Amino acid sequence: MNIVILHKDFRINDNPALFYASLSRKYLIIYPYDSHYWMTNGYSNNQFNFTLECLKELNEKLGFINAKIHIFEGNLSKLKIWIERSHPECLIHINQSTDIYYYRELLFNFKKYFHRTGRIKIYENFGIQIKNYNREIWSKNWFRIMNTATLNSPLENIVKVTSTLPTLEQFSEGLPKIILSNSSFQKGGESEAVKILDSFIDSRVNGYSKKMSSPIEAEFSCSRLSPHISHGSISMRFIYQRLIAALEYSEYKKDLLSFKKRLHWHCHFIQKLQTEPEIEYKSMHPMFENLRSESNSELIEKWILGETGFPFLDACMIFLRKKGWINFRMRAMIMSFASYNLWQPWQKTSPLLAELFIDYEPGIHISQVQMQSGVTGINLPRIYSVIKQSKDQDPYAQFIKSQIHSLKRINTRNLHNAELSDYYINQIVDLNSSSKKARETIWSIRSSRQFKILAKDVYSKHGSRLRRKQK
Ligand SMILES: Cc1cc2nc3c(=O)[nH]c(=O)nc-3n(C[C@H](O)[C@H](O)[C@H](O)COP(=O)(O)OP(=O)(O)OC[C@H]3O[C@@H](n4cnc5c(N)ncnc54)[C@H](O)[C@@H]3O)c2cc1C
Repeated sequence: MNIVILHKDFRINDNPALFYASLSRKYLIIYPYDSHYWMTNGYSNNQFNFTLECLKELNEKLGFINAKIHIFEGNLSKLKIWIERSHPECLIHINQSTDIYYYRELLFNFKKYFHRTGRIKIYENFGIQIKNYNREIWSKNWFRIMNTATLNSPLENIVKVTSTLPTLEQFSEGLPKIILSNSSFQKGGESEAVKILDSFIDSRVNGYSKKMSSPIEAEFSCSRLSPHISHGSISMRFIYQRLIAALEYSEYKKDLLSFKKRLHWHCHFIQKLQTEPEIEYKSMHPMFENLRSESNSELIEKWILGETGFPFLDACMIFLRKKGWINFRMRAMIMSFASYNLWQPWQKTSPLLAELFIDYEPGIHISQVQMQSGVTGINLPRIYSVIKQSKDQDPYAQFIKSQIHSLKRINTRNLHNAELSDYYINQIVDLNSSSKKARETIWSIRSSRQFKILAKDVYSKHGSRLRRKQK
């Protein structure tokens, strides 16, 4: 008997663990529900909700091929014991997943244990490279993986495989109500993923490369595939091949090419965490390790609740809390404000922000957080001005007013400049002096000889070789 273990990759198509396990025509599918995981370093019920929706749809589809999802309540270490007791002869199939330390350690020990008896098959995921990893040929390999044919849906179980474990339906019935869906969030599931991919490639992509910066236009004009990609309700290869086909006929080539670049970035960023798991807690450049040593919980709380006194920033946070998503530029500005203006350690702010994202993907999130905090050493520090972003991205303050109703009657100029006296919360920091101090501090470290030597090491581990080769 084969056992498929799901962690992410909640899809029927192009799912290696599911497909190869199904070749035996006798396979049991298990999703381990580990409540501790959902409370660790950036994970929250926001993402668990999405997972549940994906599982439900996948379960329905599996029903047509005599299969269903069973739930094991506990972590991989407990699952290992259960498997040994209940199915000592089974072969396990699992897709690799680059995740936070907590999961990585469990997965590592689980793999090690079953490797000894040759009873586990592990499949690589996205374009992340685990075996024979080589930074110099990483991009070439990525394109090769993306161009490989996608896998069909799994074969049917010859007989229904039963288990003493609860089914997904039984498990869901027992969940507390607080976990159940937030209607303003994106909906999970493979059919929803394919639907939004089609609508994006066929029409919404028109103007994507420009519109992605504005929080108003991005909501419609970005692909919105991120939660589906991070939960695996659609495969990266499937998206890539659909995009390449569209490039043949689409009127929106420039926008599609911009999207293509981002698919590559997705894996490029996750590969960093895969290659150097320590970056979950340590700054990439060692000279920035103790840059922000003290934290101020009051400031952090005001930031994460959208109560900073800067209407545009607060509006972005309120929007994010409502939707579980916001566009790239606004994420960068939110992070830059916490790290440069409030001077808070990224290790404290990063998980709080991640908890709000339904698309939380540790490899991308942690790398981006470090970039927007100026601690990678290989990217030029960029301090986003909240006031400039407010003027550029929301010139008529319609976004601010749509999120903060109490400011509806205030004039646009005062809203941008956050000059609101008694009409709004006081500003929690002085923008000009905090930006100046941050710039001076960061550059005083960057200008030393030692900094440059160590930055070369960071580059050789994590730097993209794509641009250099294209020149
Ligand atoms: C501080 C910060 C934290 C972030 N955290 C996450 C996260 O947890 N999960 C996440 O998926 N993205 C994260 N991003 C990257 C980016 O903001 C989102 O991928 C994007 O906004 C998702 O919306 P979309 O799917 O409509 O994007 P689109 O613009 O349509 O892009 C398509 C896909 O490409 C990938 N992608 C896009 N931009 C980037 C990027 N800059 N780096 C890497 N991959 C990218 C994503 O998989 C995305 O779904 C973060 C960015 C910042 C600045």
